[in-house]
Amino acid sequence: MSDCLFCKIVAGEIPSKKLYEDDLCYAFYDIAPQAPTHFLVVPKAHISSVAGVDETNQATAGHIFAIIAKLCKELRLDSYRVVSNIGEQAGQSVPHLHFHVLGGRDLTWPPG
Ligand code: AMP
Repeated sequence: MSDCLFCKIVAGEIPSKKLYEDDLCYAFYDIAPQAPTHFLVVPKAHISSVAGVDETNQATAGHIFAIIAKLCKELRLDSYRVVSNIGEQAGQSVPHLHFHVLGGRDLTWPPG
């Protein structure tokens, strides 16, 4: 999508601190980290949010979880949280599917 921030990051049009990429997904550190480790994993193809995951793109969504597990192993994170906000009321500010991965500190529950 031409006007999407994360599509522009995936395309390299906006700089990011890349952690990983493959044909399907792109991982980069969050610009405003909420934990000592805070990165985002996004599909390269535009999907609006978890609400936009369906039978046509579910393989990509599943792949992203495998990549999250792999990256956390590599970063030696054995306790972490994966979050995806869906919709404005839940705090989604960028309408391109993304999974926050947060770790390196105690994380409270319930979230705010
Ligand atoms: P959400 O509010 O759940 O939609 O998450 C969007 C996240 O994107 C926030 O945590 C922002 O800090 C992060 N973010 C926004 N712009 C950038 C950027 N240019 N590079 C890295 N992270 C960003």
